[in-house]
Amino acid sequence: MLFTITYTGQNTTDLGYLLYKNPYRPQTFELTYGKAYVFYPEVSKRINTLERTTVALLLNIDPLDLARGKTGSDSGGLFDYVNDRPYVSSSFMSTAISKVFGTSMTGRADSRQELSDSPLDLTANIAMLPCRGELAKLNSVFEPLGYEVSYETFIADEKFPEWGESKYVNLTIRGKVRLRDLLKHVYVLIPVFDRQKHYWVGTDEVEKLLRLGEDWLPNHPEKAYITGRYLNRRKSLVNIAFERLSAANAVDGEIIPPEIPETDDTEKTAKSEKKLNLNSQRLESVIAALKNCGAKSVIDIGCGEGNLLNLLMKDNQFTRITGVDVSHTALERASEKLKLYRANEHIRERIQIFQGSLTYKDSRFAGYDAACVVEVIEHLDISRLAAFERVLFEFAKPPIVIITTPNKEYNANYKFLDEDDLRHGDHRFEWTRAKFKDWANKTAEKFGYNAQFSEIGEVDEKYGAPTQMGVLKII
Ligand code: SAH
Repeated sequence: MLFTITYTGQNTTDLGYLLYKNPYRPQTFELTYGKAYVFYPEVSKRINTLERTTVALLLNIDPLDLARGKTGSDSGGLFDYVNDRPYVSSSFMSTAISKVFGTSMTGRADSRQELSDSPLDLTANIAMLPCRGELAKLNSVFEPLGYEVSYETFIADEKFPEWGESKYVNLTIRGKVRLRDLLKHVYVLIPVFDRQKHYWVGTDEVEKLLRLGEDWLPNHPEKAYITGRYLNRRKSLVNIAFERLSAANAVDGEIIPPEIPETDDTEKTAKSEKKLNLNSQRLESVIAALKNCGAKSVIDIGCGEGNLLNLLMKDNQFTRITGVDVSHTALERASEKLKLYRANEHIRERIQIFQGSLTYKDSRFAGYDAACVVEVIEHLDISRLAAFERVLFEFAKPPIVIITTPNKEYNANYKFLDEDDLRHGDHRFEWTRAKFKDWANKTAEKFGYNAQFSEIGEVDEKYGAPTQMGVLKII
């Protein structure tokens, strides 16, 4: 299984920075079902005035292990002993892409952020993609994403011409796209063509699809085909995904992407904020505000590891508590923290957690007295804020919304931060007090709320407190 990306342009060795893979050092990654190798078959060979750099991801899996059910299948024997899996592009490749190029998929590129945010001239080759009788779909799926599409077909076996064409193609797509988008497109679309997913397709897959497709799938002319095939035609899942995709369309039609972190980079945050102290002050302030308003049912969106949920559970005022996060890993940690695995029925009725995103309209967000969005908005791309506003204030419409976010001015007190540095590697922005107030007041006015503000943490005379909080109440 081979997947390559060629970057044509200037200083193409920068591809190494964007992928966090040194062009001069081949690397091997151990995966549960085999090994992945990353290397660069060509580095900056000038063609006329342009340079080219190509990175290759080669995946080596053992077909016998698969057949015996040792790896890659839930119960033994998902695949026959003689199977095509080691040679074709399949969900194994998608998993390897996210494992090996996961950071690039989030768009983070510490030293080359501007390049990461820019469309580049990229060509991807996907070797041996199963595509029986559906060649036209290669065009209708990849072209709307801005790619030129070409493919090489084969005779199945030259000795037996009567067998006709092979079902595999070597696919090449070329376009001016951001690297992260190309990776997401390929991650989702390989298993759309190769339908034998090596793992059980459950509700997690819906979230994954919506997350990775957030900026391109809602408006894709083949979204029905892509959604259906990606979810292995499991009707119930396809329906959920489709409903939410259509809602996303209604919320905003723009194609500017958000980036959602897989996990929160808590370690980094810990270094850059006096975390423990400020964290607990923040949560206490949120709880005090909730109590003040008399809220009984609370939804915490972007709940992370469940710190707020944990405190809410300890207070009997709160009779229905729900945590939502886009990150599966965060929810697993929350579940551990809250010991949900051994919760009795009574507790289960009081607390639940589920995976979801603030930028998709979701009927499960409705029906609470209050919604908390604590240190989350700064993780959203600014272009997604409009969607977030409508999802929360127009569709979910809780009587009370509590939002906290860093106060950028206070960063002047963090000696290790340069001017304009953000506190956390995944923050998309940090707002001054004036900017936050301006945004919150405008949002409140637009949706019929009233906003009040307070500061959390030690207050600096000049720069204010490290965290700012807005409490928005419906009028
Ligand atoms: N509220 C928690 C966690 C803050 S970290 C606390 O104060 O401790 C930010 C969290 O927002 C992360 O867990 C991240 O996964 C989540 N997040 C980011 N984008 C999101 C989105 N679009 N929808 C829901 N959660 C999101």
